[in-house]
Amino acid sequence: MERIANFIANEFDEPASRDYLDVIEPATGGVYARVPMSDAEDVNRAAATARAAFPAWASTPAAERSRLLLRLADLIEANLEQLAQAESRNCGKPIALARGVDIPRSAANMRYFATAILHAPGEFHETDQPAVGGPLHAINYTLRRPRGVAGLISPWNLPLYLLTWKIAPAVATGNTCVAKPSEVTPMTAHLLAGLVREAGFPPGVINIVHGDGRTCGSAIVQHAEVPAVSFTGSTAVGRWIGETCGRMLKRVSLELGGKNAFVIFDDADLGQAIPTAVRAAFTNQGQVCLCGSRLLVQRRVFERVLDAVATGARALVVGDPRDEATQFGSLTSRAHFEKVAAMVDEARAAGGVIHCGGAPVPGVSLPARCRGGYFYQPTVISGLDPACRVEREEIFGPVVTVQPFEDEDQAAALANGTDYGLAASVFTGDVSRAHRFAERVQAGVVWVNCWLVRDLRTPFGGMKASGVGREGGLEALRFFTEPKNVCVKV
Ligand code: NAD
Repeated sequence: MERIANFIANEFDEPASRDYLDVIEPATGGVYARVPMSDAEDVNRAAATARAAFPAWASTPAAERSRLLLRLADLIEANLEQLAQAESRNCGKPIALARGVDIPRSAANMRYFATAILHAPGEFHETDQPAVGGPLHAINYTLRRPRGVAGLISPWNLPLYLLTWKIAPAVATGNTCVAKPSEVTPMTAHLLAGLVREAGFPPGVINIVHGDGRTCGSAIVQHAEVPAVSFTGSTAVGRWIGETCGRMLKRVSLELGGKNAFVIFDDADLGQAIPTAVRAAFTNQGQVCLCGSRLLVQRRVFERVLDAVATGARALVVGDPRDEATQFGSLTSRAHFEKVAAMVDEARAAGGVIHCGGAPVPGVSLPARCRGGYFYQPTVISGLDPACRVEREEIFGPVVTVQPFEDEDQAAALANGTDYGLAASVFTGDVSRAHRFAERVQAGVVWVNCWLVRDLRTPFGGMKASGVGREGGLEALRFFTEPKNVCVKV
């Protein structure tokens, strides 16, 4: 059985406690590897290593940092098949999705930040003010310096993609890092560590420590030598991290949960809107923070859209994530499978009408090796009170609820009727309404007539309980650097 190791100072190490946790293949329910359960001692060692490597890395020319990140991007691409298989196996994610999206986008993250640092604009302001004794002239310029050791904590749904989305900007801007992937899906982070070494990064620049959140993650967050924490995960954990970082006066970026509205007006091109709604609800079994999990449909086309979405959900090819034809695999853990099942039971009890799904995938319809896996059917529910828990709280699984609305005002009220504000989609043929509605929706990302189109240069993140701060583009470069204004009287 494979043993995953911590990666500190470019060496693979056992955790100090010698304690390990099982890594499960969720499509079968079987254990296939062991992951370190690191504690504060391991985090201390990783942070000390990262701290020692920081001055040299911070003064390494940007062109050299860029070269190493580009080399890492090349290596990710050269190992695409191995990484895709590892991601698919560890997550229950269809292999075609891992190969076509997760891994290529991980390389793209590296490439984007490797080149962004070469072109980032500087800031300069000329002061020209009246003053006693004659006009005052000064020039201001802003220096941006890396902060030090960045603590990077990521979740299990898009493991390599979200980890590289943090490592790339942190390291590109001259920080060193201690990264902790989810203990549920550590496999591709482990493979990435080997590629970091092969790429030739100096020891201590990128450190990866494995373990759970309570012991290992919290030790990173609370470490005195970690001045900046970038976290992606649940709102409950994000809240604690925000409080802790606030008390310790650390910089913190929180990318949290979502309950995203997918709004279809009756003038929309339904030929585009319906298949996109199905994709938005069920990609990666609904385990994407940006999934359109609340479908809002204007009354005149409500029945038609509801039927078509349920038909689209039933048509998804559910099966072994290894199979090339599979479009819908297993949920990523037993605990998550149970949470999803409980939320559907609650919807049923609250009077929800189940149009398709609403139960685990029957074992007989799966290949023999997958009968112990965590497969739950794509599920479409209507008829719930928009104020009920199922409509307001994140399920993060293959469950979409559908609500009718009469007009733009009601659509906006429904879209904004949760504590979350990560993303929204609006489908309409009226260009003025599209802009108007995008402005009204409380979400950090709004897609018009599309879903999940990501340009890495744009700010990314949520409003309300979906997060604090933004990632992506210049926002990430700013987060990982400390500005200092220099004012020179001339
Ligand atoms: P989670 O909050 O349970 O865990 C996320 C990470 O934090 C894991 O690595 C975990 O070990 C660690 N962690 C847990 N407790 C910790 C603590 N006390 N201190 C430090 N670290 C701790 O989330 P999850 O279940 O892994 O991921 C699913 C959640 O992530 C969903 O809510 C989803 O919406 C969210 N998510 C958000 C985005 C985004 O960009 N906004 C992207 C993907 C996922």
